[in-house]
Amino acid sequence: MTQRIAVLGATGSIGDSTLAILADHPQDYTVYALSGYQRLDKLFALCQQFKPTRVCVPTKDVDSFAQRLSAAGLSIDVVGGKAGLIDIATDVQTDTVVAAIVGAAGLPSTLAAARAGKRILLANKEALVMAGEVLIRAVKTHKATLLPIDSEHNAIFQCLPASIQQDHAQIHDVSHGVRKLWLTASGGPFLNQTFEQMQRASVAQAVKHPNWSMGQKISVDSATMMNKGLELIEACHLFDLPEDKINVVMHPQSIIHSMVEYSDGSYLAQLGSPDMKTPIAHALSYPNRIDSGSQPLDLFALSALEFIKPDLQKFACLRLARQAMQAGTQATIVLNAANEIAVASFLDGQIRLTDIADINERTLTQVSVSTLGRDADIDDILAIDTLARRHTKMIVSKMA
Ligand code: NAD
Ligand code: MG
Repeated sequence: MTQRIAVLGATGSIGDSTLAILADHPQDYTVYALSGYQRLDKLFALCQQFKPTRVCVPTKDVDSFAQRLSAAGLSIDVVGGKAGLIDIATDVQTDTVVAAIVGAAGLPSTLAAARAGKRILLANKEALVMAGEVLIRAVKTHKATLLPIDSEHNAIFQCLPASIQQDHAQIHDVSHGVRKLWLTASGGPFLNQTFEQMQRASVAQAVKHPNWSMGQKISVDSATMMNKGLELIEACHLFDLPEDKINVVMHPQSIIHSMVEYSDGSYLAQLGSPDMKTPIAHALSYPNRIDSGSQPLDLFALSALEFIKPDLQKFACLRLARQAMQAGTQATIVLNAANEIAVASFLDGQIRLTDIADINERTLTQVSVSTLGRDADIDDILAIDTLARRHTKMIVSKMA
């Protein structure tokens, strides 16, 4: 039987990589549903190519998109907005949800998929940064399956024994000998540039990643290393470890995608070309393997693999992420919200790249919210998110 897949965020970079794999394996996977928010022409072309049963667009576009589909002879159920995303994520026909929406906008549908007991392929790291405890609890309670496709977390997952893959709490069993996790970071486009050069960076320079081709927000996050900070928080939730058990090492070649350090001195690493199709294919077919269509590694052409200690002064966002993780979920929600506003302001030309860390730090220290209790739910999380966004916008408007 084929796995029926809903790709939420189908018009983005992860959407592209996912659909390229699905197109290669029509016997194993059915594209059941797609969603897109901008670039509806691209979404329309995807509907023509994959003929999904359902599609989600922004609420204001539902009627026009439906007319366009029927004029092209396509009979596809069109739903809209946040409710539409949740409808698709919880649809009884959906087996697997690829959570590839960027930012906080992806949280409600990801959480709904968990509560509906789906198999979730998680790219949307912001969902875990905002709602790690709630999401992980929902996965356990409703027997959902959460498979990371962020390349680092997917690498760590692959380097862990099957018993931990199936039950992350097992990581604390000393017999498994897991000592530390090592997240690798490319360092982005400014690794070998000074802080002053980084300060003058244009948007085009900031989004030009040396190894990976990705959406704009995550590309800026990679340039400030906020991405690694978010990934650190993501790893704490996914693998049930405190932040001091997770190290970050700069590895400019992006060949080793992350590592697990064991008590006997072994380090297990996952290697591959920097191509998101590999972790996505792994998660799609797990526990089996399929051809992802990525280029094999040319080991003979690799002259050296470097490992460098991160400069926390130049990349203050990484320090802020550790600080927020120590402080608790309320702080990671504030940091994520501040960062989404700061990145959008940089892309809009209102602030400099290096202002992002300052703005994030100021929001983190100035917005005071009480510690979230164990019974906190999505409304409490979204209330903190809204409060922090408002505060960050105020900081930006004073700066600009
Ligand atoms: P992208 O900007 O290329 O695509 C984002 C997708 O989300 C698009 O389909 C867009 O239409 C949709 N979207 C945006 N705002 C929305 C909203 N308000 N409501 C509904 N849909 C909305 O981003 P991407 O690079 O594909 O990244 C997606 C997620 O995956 C991010 O969380 C990112 O951190 C994570 N991720 C990406 C990569 C990568 O290589 N691109 C790697 C690891 C993790
Ligand atoms: Mg990553």
